[in-house]
Amino acid sequence: MSMTETQTPEVEAPLAPLYRLEGVTRTYQQKGRVVKALAGVDLEIAAGEFVTIQGPTGGGKSTLLQLLGALDRPSAGAVHLGEIDVATASNAELGRIRAREIGFVFQGFNLIPTLTAAENVDMALEPLGLSKTERGERVAEALAHVGLADRTDHKPGELSGGQQQRVAIARAIVKRPRVLLADEPTGNLDESMRDEILALLQGLNAEGLTLIVVTHDSAVARRATRRLRLDKGTVRDITR
Ligand code: ADP
Ligand code: MG
Repeated sequence: MSMTETQTPEVEAPLAPLYRLEGVTRTYQQKGRVVKALAGVDLEIAAGEFVTIQGPTGGGKSTLLQLLGALDRPSAGAVHLGEIDVATASNAELGRIRAREIGFVFQGFNLIPTLTAAENVDMALEPLGLSKTERGERVAEALAHVGLADRTDHKPGELSGGQQQRVAIARAIVKRPRVLLADEPTGNLDESMRDEILALLQGLNAEGLTLIVVTHDSAVARRATRRLRLDKGTVRDITR
């Protein structure tokens, strides 16, 4: 359609936030005392961002990631993820979101040692109700995407740390999630493997995947599009 003088030019709508957190607190009971892991967090994250979360141990990073992953609910406040509020959604709805929309990557890889790389990745597709053929295709595609097309039948013990983390990333992306959440994904890796994983994550972000990564590693944070610091349950933007 051609633009004429009578038409108002189309203004690009601002990106709808993927996450919108409002006044989020999370308290825990510890030996009869109340610990405030998150103390009033307001935060928006748009689709396509690469956000890192740094900060001291005990600052609330893992607590925040669990809320973003719909693994936990806030004590007060709202955690909007797309159309749902993690605070009030049913358990079934949170389960559906975790299975389809969110990929998780952990410091310790969390692979099942008795299963091959392909079988570990395939497990993430179990809840999606796909045909066996489509599952096979998706698993092969995900492992190729992380550069492990030639390691599909290897078990975790037969792979390097970097390769194991690649399998874990393939398991996270095979469901085609809206966001990938990672808690210290390079924490158990030496420097060269860290750089490999970092390049892989950056490539996924360049393809449009939203990344939220908890890290102590400033080399990881330097690649982010936005850097947050979480200390005493409070978030601060430290992007320069
Ligand atoms: P980080 O990941 O930044 O190290 P956490 O989110 O794990 O921080 O912890 C934040 C605070 O909440 C800490 O004081 C921690 O002891 C407390 N905490 C975290 N999880 C629990 C829990 N399940 N039960 C009780 N206290 C917890
Ligand atoms: Mg932690």
